[in-house]
Amino acid sequence: MFLDAAATGPVRREAIEAMWPYLTGQFGNPSSHHGLGESAAAGLRGAREEVAGVLGCRPGEVIFTAGGTEAGNLAVKGIALARRSAEPGRRRLLISAVEHPAVQESAAYLQRRHGFDVDAVPVDADGRVQPAVFASLLEKAGQESGATNSTGSAGITGHWDVAMASVMYANNEVGTVQPIRELAAAAKAAGVYFHTDAVQAAGWLPVKVAELGVDALSLSGHKLGAPKGSGVLYLRGNVPADPLLHGGGQERGARSGTENVAFAVAFATALRLAELERETAAARVRSLQKKFIAEVLRRVPGSMLTGHATERLPTVASFCFPGTSGESVLLELERRSILCSSGSACAAGSDEPSAVLTAMGVRREVAQTAVRFSFGNSVTEAELGTAADAVVGSLEAIGRLQPGR
Ligand code: PLP
Repeated sequence: MFLDAAATGPVRREAIEAMWPYLTGQFGNPSSHHGLGESAAAGLRGAREEVAGVLGCRPGEVIFTAGGTEAGNLAVKGIALARRSAEPGRRRLLISAVEHPAVQESAAYLQRRHGFDVDAVPVDADGRVQPAVFASLLEKAGQESGATNSTGSAGITGHWDVAMASVMYANNEVGTVQPIRELAAAAKAAGVYFHTDAVQAAGWLPVKVAELGVDALSLSGHKLGAPKGSGVLYLRGNVPADPLLHGGGQERGARSGTENVAFAVAFATALRLAELERETAAARVRSLQKKFIAEVLRRVPGSMLTGHATERLPTVASFCFPGTSGESVLLELERRSILCSSGSACAAGSDEPSAVLTAMGVRREVAQTAVRFSFGNSVTEAELGTAADAVVGSLEAIGRLQPGR
């Protein structure tokens, strides 16, 4: 049983059917001026409009990428470098302490190679960034560099040393949902561009960019029923971003390379359907999630749920089982045909405790006992009942629970 949907999922049939023609008969290059090229360009245009429809933005603000990692890199590096080249004093980044490596490592690279300062925005024990803390970091940045209200860039006043800020919408390891609207509003008030990594949120939470108030938002196809290696960065119209890839100037110059029309079409189809199904799926999966969490906590004394109790994705149930090692529980679960993970796919197999849990103040030895179950929209009550039994069976097998409870 696959309970690792936050890591990836299968491509949905509708997405395969929608992209098939662009892999076969309509294989043209969208930049070609003949009919075959034009039909590929029309497919790409349709996909862009479809994504824009879901995000509530203009089609020109949608940049197709090769996945969520590229979208996050383009947002962080692209915006930071472009902003600093326009205003050299802007050399500070505000990055939450629980970001996916796509964002975290982009910021670390800017620090290492381009002399940026990175302020890690702390989270509380539930994994949430407090808007007041975020606002005070924006404020602190301004004060430290002795900034007053500068009007360095068109109509923007305030904290002139911050190039951009990035806080994810929902966390991939513990499922905590951030108060994105408040954070984006604080950044806006300070004249700081704000990116959110919405890779785990899309399909489960609203993603209308104007309602969220964000300047940039990244998405990944393979969490939504589209192929791995497909993704999107929404970049608000007048937000500058240096490209990562230089070449023929495709995607408004933000992302050169012949467009992957088939994947763009598959992505758009999957995103549209996920959005269509979102409210019903979220309500159904949330009620199953609640039962599963209650069942595990009841049957495993001393276990703890990680992440926020209510402000969490319906799709993630993450626990620590003190007195075990996460890896041994995972092995036992797999012997019982339950596939899940110790947190993020990247951390799997490493002895290092999760940086997300550590940032939440979870002690190292407890963080090493983390197990994450994550659900797609096909999960059933019977499956989660079986999974809860398997958790108990696994903990009995490793001596953490007495058999026959
Ligand atoms: N951001 C988050 C929150 C993720 O969970 C992931 C995937 O694990 C990514 C970014 C990276 O997306 P991709 O796998 O498409 O590069």
